[in-house]
Amino acid sequence: MSDDHDDSPIAARVRELEAMLEEKGLLDPRELDQVLEAFAHRASPANGFRVAARAWVDPAFRARLLENANEALPELGLSMGGGLQVQRLHVVENTEDVHNVIVCTLCSCYPLSLLGPSPTWYKSTAYRSKVVSHPREVLEQFGLTLPETTRIDVWDANAESRYMVLPRRPEGTEDLSEAELAAKVTRNGLIGTAAV
Ligand code: FE
Repeated sequence: MSDDHDDSPIAARVRELEAMLEEKGLLDPRELDQVLEAFAHRASPANGFRVAARAWVDPAFRARLLENANEALPELGLSMGGGLQVQRLHVVENTEDVHNVIVCTLCSCYPLSLLGPSPTWYKSTAYRSKVVSHPREVLEQFGLTLPETTRIDVWDANAESRYMVLPRRPEGTEDLSEAELAAKVTRNGLIGTAAV
C-alpha cells in the first residue's frame, strides 16, 4: 500500500490519512497491508465464473442471487467485503429479451472481488461515455451483435452499488458439470460485452 507509486490526488490523501492514523497509534500499517493483500489475492474473475455456473445449475440459488446477491455469495464462500467498505451487489440476468451491460460513468467502480482488476477499456472515457448513449454500437465493437428486438439495459455503478451480469447459459451444455460450465464463462460475459 505505502510502497506503490500512485501519484493521483486521492492516493496522496490516502497516504496522508494513513500517516496521520499511524502517528496517533490508531492504525497498524502491517494490519492494513495484510487486509488489502488478502483481498487482492482473492479478487479473481474465477469467482464470478463460479457464481454464474452455480446460478445455471441451481434455480433456487439463482433466485436468491438475483434477489439479494450479498446474502447469496457466502453460499460459495464469497463476499463483497474484504475491502474497506462493503458494497451492494446487484446481479442482472440476461434473457432472450433483455441484455445487460455494466459501466461506471463517473470513474471505474467495478465488482473487483468477483471479477478481479478491471480491464483498461472499462476505465476509458470512450467506453464510459458511449455505452450509455449507444450501447448497441459499443457491443458491436466487442463483436457482440444482438437482435434488434433485444432490449439493452445499461447499469451504472457507483460507490455503494456494483453490478454483475448473469449471462445466458449457452445452448448444448445440458451435460456439462458445474466446473465445466464455469470454464465457459468469460470476464466480458459478466460485464455484458460478450454473450457468455
Ligand atoms: Fe466509479
